[in-house]
Amino acid sequence: MVIRVAELPDPHDGGHALVIGDIADNCLVRIHSRCLYGDALQSDDCDCGNELGLAMDLIQDEGSGVLVYLEQEGRGAGLIGKAMGLRTTEQFGLDTYASYARLGLPSDSRKYVAAAQLLSDLGLTRIRLLTNSPAKIAAVESADIRVSVEPLVTRPKSERARRYLDAQREHHKLPSE
Ligand SMILES: [Zn+2]
Repeated sequence: MVIRVAELPDPHDGGHALVIGDIADNCLVRIHSRCLYGDALQSDDCDCGNELGLAMDLIQDEGSGVLVYLEQEGRGAGLIGKAMGLRTTEQFGLDTYASYARLGLPSDSRKYVAAAQLLSDLGLTRIRLLTNSPAKIAAVESADIRVSVEPLVTRPKSERARRYLDAQREHHKLPSE
């Protein structure tokens, strides 16, 4: 399977795109924000590693698709900010959003405009987006790409991951399972 790598230069929301196989309209796409602990170290604090693994399995099963991997550690707060947030969460028993607020960090500073533009530049006009994030869906639609949402359903790896996902769902105002 041929994988092409494209760079996405953006000072805050850049990264890389892996274009896997011969893509066409309606292919699977994952826009993933970097999570060093979850993606590389298999931390059970969150579900990022599971989501990335599942998305890549689905793309590989189809033989083509796009992974946009964005350098947006800690919802855009960076690795240091995220580490401070995790410590605050532990210390005060807060959820991740309340911890960020206590530290004066924006709860989520990620933007997906550059990622959506890249998908448009790849010639895509409709995609199946592997996501649970309304912000990602809205950004892609703003780039005139039609989106069918393919929710990523993963099993939380721990009670901590379950609490993280509950906080995220509450933050996004998503219906609970
Ligand atoms: Zn994570």
